[in-house]
Amino acid sequence: MDSGGCRESKGCEKRNGGGLLIECMSKKMLGLEELGQIPIESYMRQEKKICKGVIYGVMMDITVEELEEELEKDQVVEVRRIGKRDEKGEVQSTTVVLTFELENMPEQVIMGFQRFRVNEYRPSPIRCYKCQLFGHMAGSCRGKRRCAKCGKDHEFRDCDVKGQGKCCNCGGEHSTAFKGCVEQIKAREIQIIKFEEKTSYVSAVKRYKEQMENKIQREKIQMNSRQEKAIKSIINVNEKVTKETLLVNKKQFLLFIIEVINCTAQTKNRTEKMQIVSKAGERYLGIEVMSVEQINELLERGGSRK
Ligand SMILES: [Zn+2]
Ligand SMILES: [Zn+2]
Ligand SMILES: [Zn+2]
Repeated sequence: MDSGGCRESKGCEKRNGGGLLIECMSKKMLGLEELGQIPIESYMRQEKKICKGVIYGVMMDITVEELEEELEKDQVVEVRRIGKRDEKGEVQSTTVVLTFELENMPEQVIMGFQRFRVNEYRPSPIRCYKCQLFGHMAGSCRGKRRCAKCGKDHEFRDCDVKGQGKCCNCGGEHSTAFKGCVEQIKAREIQIIKFEEKTSYVSAVKRYKEQMENKIQREKIQMNSRQEKAIKSIINVNEKVTKETLLVNKKQFLLFIIEVINCTAQTKNRTEKMQIVSKAGERYLGIEVMSVEQINELLERGGSRK
């Protein structure tokens, strides 16, 4: 990178079409068309804040130029009518993508007497019509030709497979165009990242993978904590059972009886007798001392502590 006077490059990035995007600090490269026989395209980096929104139901007879003129007041700098595919090929639709020179898009725009709600622009993922993979177009495809319906090496229109066919992206029983295909869903999520983070396709794929890994990690942690909770509740139940069940040394039990007989003989008072038994229980059997009220309550309930 000598001849162009671009020593201070900020970094480069591989592009989908096989090209290389180099960001330079100086303006010397501007206008240059070739660099050591390699064709180049140079432009100023877009520094202004822009955002995109989409409006629906825009009459077909209004031209893009008319729309641009009408929407200048709303800081719209670019208008694009979205095309859709049908049997005749690409046709225009009533959906229009607006690029605003604003940080946040407005909720609505008014044209003539009509109000249009501005929706978030979520471009659908690009699928290559040659190899059926997502993220690039047939023009820059370096993959093998695969039929959208059966995955074999022929054009879709020459396919003689009857029925649903087989998706060569996920192996499911549908064509690669099926919106519910797992690979298409994944491509859509990558597309959303690419759009929202204003990044390249390659970076969006990387981000998507990171997000997926984080999600798996989070789920693992959640599962572990669920398991932990289950184990803890089993331990708690066990502890409760141990606390409330009397497992006692036979000699201790004998001593308890003797103590109870000896001491209770010394009094005729019912409350005092209960206190003596409770204390002996603590001493020989390790049972928590209970108040007279607690004992009475237990006796009323028929001895059950539940
Ligand atoms: Zn391809
Ligand atoms: Zn086929
Ligand atoms: Zn599929």
